[in-house]
Amino acid sequence: KKITIAIDGYSSTGKSTLAKELAHHLGYVYVDTGAMYRAVTLYAMQKGFIGIGFFDIKSLVASLPTIKLVFKFNPDLGFAEMYLNDLNVEKEIRTIEVSNYVSQVAEISEVRSKLVEQQQEMGKNKGIVMDGRDIGTIVFPNADLKIFMTASPLTRAERRFKELQKKGDQVTFDEVLKNVEQRDYIDTHREDSPLVKAKDAIEFDNSTISKQEQFEKVLKLIHI
Ligand code: C5P
Repeated sequence: KKITIAIDGYSSTGKSTLAKELAHHLGYVYVDTGAMYRAVTLYAMQKGFIGIGFFDIKSLVASLPTIKLVFKFNPDLGFAEMYLNDLNVEKEIRTIEVSNYVSQVAEISEVRSKLVEQQQEMGKNKGIVMDGRDIGTIVFPNADLKIFMTASPLTRAERRFKELQKKGDQVTFDEVLKNVEQRDYIDTHREDSPLVKAKDAIEFDNSTISKQEQFEKVLKLIHI
């Protein structure tokens, strides 16, 4: 019997790594909801709604109906990539610039309700692993399995720094650490759907257990 798995937690705690591995192993669909918030942010940057020292929330909200977000499976990579209005934006949404604005975009209620609705639609069929900040609390409060991931800010910044370096992004470690801390602050303090652990979620601290151990623990929980 296929189930719904919700994975939430702070930035760069290894949510997507675990989610991808699980989806691959179980033959489930993997949905990275952070990619959707990132794509909306990229759109706002491209339209000039966001820039240094300004943020035109009104225009962004007004143009939400024109933003089309689609995940397309890439068989070479083994997971789906994000398309914004029919363009593959997988690379553009992972830059530090987008990371610096995304949590402010994710605070906007109209943005959240649009994306949550689309996520719930995608989850209508079971056999899905979705990761984000509000999956076990808001998107799928009845998920069969909920996981909440944490790790020390240093561990997380190191992980994100290595990822960005590999992609050739010219960032400093301090910049990445600051970004991780800032996003966590905004995500946990926003009014609409703040990041909290669902009561029935199982917590994993990624700075104390290995990826392999984590994966095996989850499989045991699913009884497969
Ligand atoms: O997961 P990722 O780090 O790519 O997410 C980027 C940002 O999008 C998060 O820092 C958070 O502000 C926002 N987000 C959210 N709710 C989700 C997924 C992401 O608010 N379900």
